[in-house]
Amino acid sequence: ARKAALSASSGPGATSDGHKVPLLANVGGPGDVPAAVEAGAEGVGLFRTEFLFLDDSERAPSEEKQVEAYRKVLEAFPEGRVVVRVLDAGADKPLAFLTPADEPNPALGVRGLRTLLDHPDVLRTQLTALAKAAAGLPVHLEVMAPMVADRADAKAFADACQEAGLRAKFGAMVEIPSAALRARSILQEVEFLSLGTNDLAQYTFAADRQVGAVSRLQDPWQPALLDLVALSAEAAKAEGKSCGVCGEAASDPLLACVLTGLGVTSLSMGAASIPYVRATLAKYTLAQCERAAAAARAADSAEEARVAAQAVLSGE
Ligand code: PEP
Ligand code: MG
Repeated sequence: ARKAALSASSGPGATSDGHKVPLLANVGGPGDVPAAVEAGAEGVGLFRTEFLFLDDSERAPSEEKQVEAYRKVLEAFPEGRVVVRVLDAGADKPLAFLTPADEPNPALGVRGLRTLLDHPDVLRTQLTALAKAAAGLPVHLEVMAPMVADRADAKAFADACQEAGLRAKFGAMVEIPSAALRARSILQEVEFLSLGTNDLAQYTFAADRQVGAVSRLQDPWQPALLDLVALSAEAAKAEGKSCGVCGEAASDPLLACVLTGLGVTSLSMGAASIPYVRATLAKYTLAQCERAAAAARAADSAEEARVAAQAVLSGE
């Protein structure tokens, strides 16, 4: 019965009163596309391109190899959005030929966009490959950079996209608290934001995402994290731009309602979570989601935030 109820609720993501929240899939390459299509994803909200770089420990994949992989993903969503993240190497995703070996704190070192700005040839090849892959397709290509810290980072990325002749929207991931605090300034350079809540939690709470002993602080219900989500979404709204979530937070159906209430404009998650998030979102109005979000932000712990949001949504 549960399966029947889930398949009945296919279609675009929306609250019960019709406020649209596109539900997108996180993918690591063409192999993840069938499950995303099957789950009714409206596009891809995070294409983690790192996976393409894992086959060879000495060099980046050739432009041709990249074009082929990007094209397969872009072709699967002819009318949809596909948000590609440029290479996020370093820290929890080390690449031998790019990542410095001697950093005392790799998560605080040269990773993400910082790596690409140190290796402009790698970034240029990736952007050129994306431009070629999207040529002639009706897809809405969006390209974003991981680990943007400030406006200078956002500008450096946007400039690189323009120089590569990429005809796409350029965006910044919000994964560092400084980016959430100064989101309006970053939005002077790019057209959209996407919250990477896994890293945003790590850097907000100084809690390594790979260390189980501090996992309590990695809980995406932490009210401080919700505050940073709200700041980012408000900044995007003020600038008339979009602000999605592509971290694990989006895959929790109850939290997805809270994120919607905080003003997030799209949710991207592993394909398997999409039917559950769609079904839960469809049960509540936008106003209910906003009340649940306010209740969660008023709490003093992740657990209290969860209980408070649940109480609002179940009408207690
Ligand atoms: C995140 O940090 O939330 C994110 C989506 O990126 P990744 O998990 O790949 O670092
Ligand atoms: Mg991240």
